[in-house]
Amino acid sequence: MRQVSSWGRLDAPAHRVIRLTDPERLPEQLRSGPFPGLAYGMGRSYGDVCLNPDNTLWETAGLDHFVAFDDRSGLLVCEAGVLLRDIQRLTLPRGWMLPVTPGTQLVTVGGAIANDVHGKNHHLQGTFGEHVRRLTLVRTDGTTLECGPDQQADWFAATVGGLGLTGVIVRAELQLRRVAGPWLETEALPFENLEAFFSLADHSVAGWEHTVSWIDCMASGHTRGVFMRGRPSAAEGRRRPRTRMLRMPFVPPVSLVNALSLRPFNQLYYLLNTRRRGRTLTHYEPFFYPLDNLLDWNRMYGPRGFYQYQSVVPQDAGLDSTKAMLAEISRAGEGSFLAVLKTFGERAPIGMLSFPQAGATLALDFPNRGERTLALLARLDAIVLEARGRLYAAKDARMPRTLFEAGYPRLPEFLHYRDPGISSGLSRRLLGH
Ligand SMILES: Cc1cc2nc3c(=O)[nH]c(=O)nc-3n(C[C@H](O)[C@H](O)[C@H](O)COP(=O)(O)OP(=O)(O)OC[C@H]3O[C@@H](n4cnc5c(N)ncnc54)[C@H](O)[C@@H]3O)c2cc1C
Repeated sequence: MRQVSSWGRLDAPAHRVIRLTDPERLPEQLRSGPFPGLAYGMGRSYGDVCLNPDNTLWETAGLDHFVAFDDRSGLLVCEAGVLLRDIQRLTLPRGWMLPVTPGTQLVTVGGAIANDVHGKNHHLQGTFGEHVRRLTLVRTDGTTLECGPDQQADWFAATVGGLGLTGVIVRAELQLRRVAGPWLETEALPFENLEAFFSLADHSVAGWEHTVSWIDCMASGHTRGVFMRGRPSAAEGRRRPRTRMLRMPFVPPVSLVNALSLRPFNQLYYLLNTRRRGRTLTHYEPFFYPLDNLLDWNRMYGPRGFYQYQSVVPQDAGLDSTKAMLAEISRAGEGSFLAVLKTFGERAPIGMLSFPQAGATLALDFPNRGERTLALLARLDAIVLEARGRLYAAKDARMPRTLFEAGYPRLPEFLHYRDPGISSGLSRRLLGH
């Protein structure tokens, strides 16, 4: 047994960890349990979607082989434990990149499919699952299933965004996109209120592929932030500065993220970006994955860890609900170190439980202060529920079942595809088993 935690580090329950390495042996390996089990990628999910306390975790890091790449069509076949970072570093010199990646590239293909992750370009490219052409799923009864958008499409829709509960993804075929190089034309635009944010978002949809905003939750009396946008560029930037990997070397006894540290940090961040306004060429790695060079940054929150809270509410409720949530946070005297606001486009969701829907999505981090934090999150839940929104399971460790059921109307249909030998902390909490 080994203690394993997810990115939020709220706890570190014991697991029986079994490393998967050989796709050929997988059906037999899964069939022999012990049950219930759950696939585990890089543990970059924040809550309990990737944990299976006191039970088995099938670690996929060893399923890390590239199988085929056609550099005329951009079709890549790889095993599910391959990291998105390694795909991009391999294919970029040949003119191809992943069309959709989350805010860290240190995640596996299997994890990206199971949470149907999104990036900063949802309005143009949708979610990760939209670019999966085929996947191989092994069930715990030893059966193997091939599915895709045009083959066993119901299994595909259950597995993309299926939170690892339909089987273990062994291999996937991904359609990459052509790019001129690693550079983006980017622009940072400070804004002074939420109306300005939504106006910038509307105006950027047509000409900018990537949009995202950082919000200063600690500014007194009003909401300000920095709207960042980017689009692929064929221009040659300066040679990419050599990035030094830093590591948060230890877990401090208390959270370093608190009201005292947040206010000056936010102030400084805002001022730096105000000064940097204007267009520039930026390498894709610092633009898309700003925290990937600070290893173990999640330790900053101290031994009790932190909650991440990501909601999406429909477009018509975007402004009012975002205002209401930020007011609630401010009333509670809390702030978030990473407060990210962006908009999702109108795209049909690919998975039965895919998170994105057209509207505004707000992601916040809160140090775990026990009941006080949980009470604030419950008040945010009420705002999301009233706006007919939903929370992102990849970030969740505590949402009530009612909110999950209300936010995901295809849940009853999804349940038919569950693998009875698989369960997670999240599934036991929200689905009863
Ligand atoms: C700094 C940071 C930024 C992030 N930004 C974003 C963002 O912008 N957008 C976004 O959508 N997400 C974002 N995330 C969340 C992250 O992208 C997802 O949680 C992702 O799914 C993690 O992948 P993983 O490989 O670590 O999988 P894990 O966290 O280990 O597992 C995630 C889920 O996938 C399942 N799974 C893993 N491998 C397999 C497999 N082979 N077969 C079946 N199921 C499997 C697990 O059972 C679990 O349910 C961010 C996370 C961090 C830490």
